Amino acid sequence: MLVETPALHENETNPWLSAEARFNRAADLLGVEDGMRKVLKSPAREICVNIPVLLDDGRIEVFTGYRVQHSIARGPAKGGIRFAPDVTLDEVRALASWMTWKCAVVNIPFGGGKGGVICNPAVLSQAELERITRRYTAEILDYIGPERDVPAPDMNTNEQTMAWIMDTYSMHVRHTTTAVVTGKPLNLGGSRGRPEATGRGCMIVTQQALRRFGLEPSNTRVVIQGFGNVGGMAAKLMSRAGFKIVCIIEYDGAVYNPRGLDIPALMKHRDETGSITGFAEAEDMDRNEAMFLECEVLLPAARENVITSANADRLRCKILCEGANGPTTHVADSILQDKKVFVIPDILANAGGVTVSYFEWVQDRQGFFWNEQLVNGRLEEIMVNSFRDVTAYGDKHEVNNRIAAYMLALDRVQFAIRLRGIYA
Ligand code: NAD
Repeated sequence: MLVETPALHENETNPWLSAEARFNRAADLLGVEDGMRKVLKSPAREICVNIPVLLDDGRIEVFTGYRVQHSIARGPAKGGIRFAPDVTLDEVRALASWMTWKCAVVNIPFGGGKGGVICNPAVLSQAELERITRRYTAEILDYIGPERDVPAPDMNTNEQTMAWIMDTYSMHVRHTTTAVVTGKPLNLGGSRGRPEATGRGCMIVTQQALRRFGLEPSNTRVVIQGFGNVGGMAAKLMSRAGFKIVCIIEYDGAVYNPRGLDIPALMKHRDETGSITGFAEAEDMDRNEAMFLECEVLLPAARENVITSANADRLRCKILCEGANGPTTHVADSILQDKKVFVIPDILANAGGVTVSYFEWVQDRQGFFWNEQLVNGRLEEIMVNSFRDVTAYGDKHEVNNRIAAYMLALDRVQFAIRLRGIYA
């Protein structure tokens, strides 16, 4: 029998509208007046560049790139650059505003930014990607810098991309400036602990949430969607900390073991076969059903818009830890609230990454590098304090964690704007 999928609400998956809906709710509850609301909402700067690039076969192609600086009220803009064929200005805007709120939630001295280049990395050579990266960097050069805007990797960009941006910027300003980007290779000013930071942050906030439910890791079943940087690291660290990772979901299938998966063995199997499926110590299961398994923690760490009005009422988790950016649509928020799911919102749950990026920027500017223990200890302190700040704010104002996180962030950013005043 064919089961009909319920239709999504109009524009439900537009990230800018999701960001706006949550912003409006938080601003209403805070009583933010109209003028300040406009300032908080409007991106401070939106840069669009059309960059000509010579392809390997001698043709010239023009690629469009964006850099949006949503806010610089609390410090330089901070946020990744993504390369993808379907990048839109709306998406980059939404992601830039999320970065503003995320940095404010964890109280690090950055604003929010995001960038993107419309291109298909799957059909481009390394040399073409390098030329796109360098020309894009040259076009936005006047707007980035350690004190202005500090990019980082995002979808389809990586340590190598950051090394090219750092080098291009340094060639123009005529001295090596490692602090212009984060997420760099370790021997070019990168930070220890950065690859694990987002997954580690997810684990720390989940450990905090367990206390509210009187749960121990050993009786906590975890389902993770996405086995990449965030999901893979979270799985590895959480299984090491005693959590029972019962299911991993990837784009090509899911694997399930009610007694808990052996994560290092599953990683080895994936590396050898190219897929998590067919793992001897687990059963394969339908990836579309796996998210609805009964569990204590569901950790979506793959992509946006996976929990919508069409499926939110089927979730059977106590805690939803949003490792990905925007995995839940704003329409699904109220369904989860009615089901009393304890949501650790993305702007808190996955903020471990930007927190260690902040540490990287600090270390680059100091020219003095920390050991991994120091990085992890400082990350833990920030994540624990931020979890407490958000949940205390939620308890005080009787709102859910997502709205509490937005209110806390808006309040911190508006406070900075008031102190600075409106320059004329
Ligand atoms: P990644 O590419 O390393 O991993 C994503 C994984 O999800 C891949 O293994 C991919 O195959 C899988 N996947 C994609 N679509 C899927 C689907 N529909 N179902 C199941 N699996 C699917 O990316 P990442 O860096 O781990 O980022 C994941 C999410 O976390 C993104 O939303 C990203 O914006 C967010 N995030 C990442 C960081 C970071 O430090 N990497 C920080 C904050 C937020």
